[in-house]
Amino acid sequence: MSNIVAIVGRPNVGKSTLFNRLTESRKAIVDDMSGVTRDRHYGMAEWINKPFTVVDTGGYVANSDDVFESAINEQVLIAIEEASVILFMVDVNTGITDLDDSIAAILRRSRKPVFVVANKVDNNSQRNDASVFYGFGLGELHLISSMTGSGTGELLDEVVTHF
Ligand code: GDP
Ligand code: MG
Repeated sequence: MSNIVAIVGRPNVGKSTLFNRLTESRKAIVDDMSGVTRDRHYGMAEWINKPFTVVDTGGYVANSDDVFESAINEQVLIAIEEASVILFMVDVNTGITDLDDSIAAILRRSRKPVFVVANKVDNNSQRNDASVFYGFGLGELHLISSMTGSGTGELLDEVVTHF
């Protein structure tokens, strides 16, 4: 597969909501793969005549016993490995959490194009709150609302330049 966009982030930031929005009309084309990939969901999407695969991950979860070897984190690491572009999703309403920082550290080592996607920016009054995410020192910052679709077009315009 080529042109793979992986959506990573801690649980509840809105990854699956964005995945569903991007893959809406084509959801059934790619079945989820079995075996080792079972916790990553694949869908087909297209933007300006450029088709790509979107990967929704279960969400990176810190595990105090064994952070890096738990199954859920393993599939996030695989998704990062196979991605051509990574969307690192965070929640504008919570700011940066410890878990966000852990994921950012992994992404800094990935050498892949990373877009920091501040989700849940449903209205303009939240735009200033998102500037805190520049603190990751990772890639471009995009403000979106997966719920309303606001900002997703501008994000995709940039993402497809990497294909
Ligand atoms: P995931 O765990 O990262 O896959 O997150 P989900 O996509 O399951 O979303 C978690 C919760 O956030 C759900 O209640 C969504 O409806 C909500 N949510 C997702 N995107 C947005 C958004 O843009 N704005 C708001 N207000 N809520 C959102
Ligand atoms: Mg999800």
